[in-house]
Amino acid sequence: MDGLIYLDNNATTPLDPRVLEAMMPYLTTQFANASSVTHRAGRAAAAAVEKARGQVASLIGATEKEITFTSGSTEAINMVLKGVFERYQTKGRHFITSQTEHKAVLDTFAYLEKQGAEVTYLPVSGSGALDLTLLEASIRPDTVLVALMHANNETGVLHPVRDIGKITMRRDVLFFCDATQSVGKVPVNVAEIGVDLLCLSAHKLYGPKGVGALYIRRRNKRIQTGVLLHGGGQENKLRAGTLNVPGIVGLGEAASIAQKEMDTESLRLATLRDKLESGLTRLPAAVVNGLGSPRLPNVSNIAFRHLRADQLMVGVPDIALSSGSACVSGTRDPSHVLKAMGLSDADAHASVRFSLGRFTTDEDIRTCICEVTETVNSLRASSPIWQLHNNE
Ligand code: PLP
Repeated sequence: MDGLIYLDNNATTPLDPRVLEAMMPYLTTQFANASSVTHRAGRAAAAAVEKARGQVASLIGATEKEITFTSGSTEAINMVLKGVFERYQTKGRHFITSQTEHKAVLDTFAYLEKQGAEVTYLPVSGSGALDLTLLEASIRPDTVLVALMHANNETGVLHPVRDIGKITMRRDVLFFCDATQSVGKVPVNVAEIGVDLLCLSAHKLYGPKGVGALYIRRRNKRIQTGVLLHGGGQENKLRAGTLNVPGIVGLGEAASIAQKEMDTESLRLATLRDKLESGLTRLPAAVVNGLGSPRLPNVSNIAFRHLRADQLMVGVPDIALSSGSACVSGTRDPSHVLKAMGLSDADAHASVRFSLGRFTTDEDIRTCICEVTETVNSLRASSPIWQLHNNE
């Protein structure tokens, strides 16, 4: 993008040129329907889909049969929560989640509460951490499912999914993990986590928009999600609809690249992120949100106290930043994630998310530190609130 330093990779990542290259034939000459197995063009498309299924399965330690392609995580979240609610009524109607989940989870639960579900929203600590004793104590005989994300999209805070998996397994409740932000950035292995259902989205890992995958455990357990979409019987009769072959191929290639490059890339990103944080926290009253918790290597959420994030972002027009999740930025409500971590409305409104990515360079970070520092200083210099606090 022309002269733009893109630090909004948690909202969406650019398409990796290698992914585009893998997709191109399926956007052009190889356009056949993957269900048209009566001819060789259709069979080739079906084979490409199966190759991608293997690539996605390999990235998360699943088997091919456990992967269902979707249009992205919002769809998977809606389908799983609504499907499980419908299917497990005889066990109960109680669900557990956290206050810092993505809106796709929270809004789906709000809908289900109107249908008679009971939902416990676990609080988090000041650094965004869950209390696992409280999680276990919240499980009741009628608890059906625990829905907890792996990495938070706003702060990058990681939940201890392996420990959560041990609890849900021991207490025989389903565990659904929204791993949209962690897959491809940090290791995610469904068998090691002991998770039953997990969703991921291609556009967060340098693949195309509008495609994702849902992992449904098939080993040692029968998970009943019901049919996600009725129709032509695609995806093992779980999710009907003509398959998005180019998108699926892109997701597969993106998964394969992420798997190969994750170790070196996460180290590179963590180094850049640390450099960014040490540069920006030289400013007075600049606090990293979620600092005390394990976090994704690419995210830094910083409160520049006594100013407004929207003013700061206007002041650095050549840097793409965010003041929360993409879906809610532009709204005036303070971030529900930061509020759950105990921030005041003012500090939540003063917080900016920097999310780095595969194409972020050292120079981008140096420029970002300079421009943000300059803008924060000049906004504060003309701010009566800052003068007041500074003279206290
Ligand atoms: N869950 C999390 C944690 C996310 O960050 C996002 C996207 O912002 C979603 C779910 C929704 O994903 P999708 O854009 O694939 O619907």
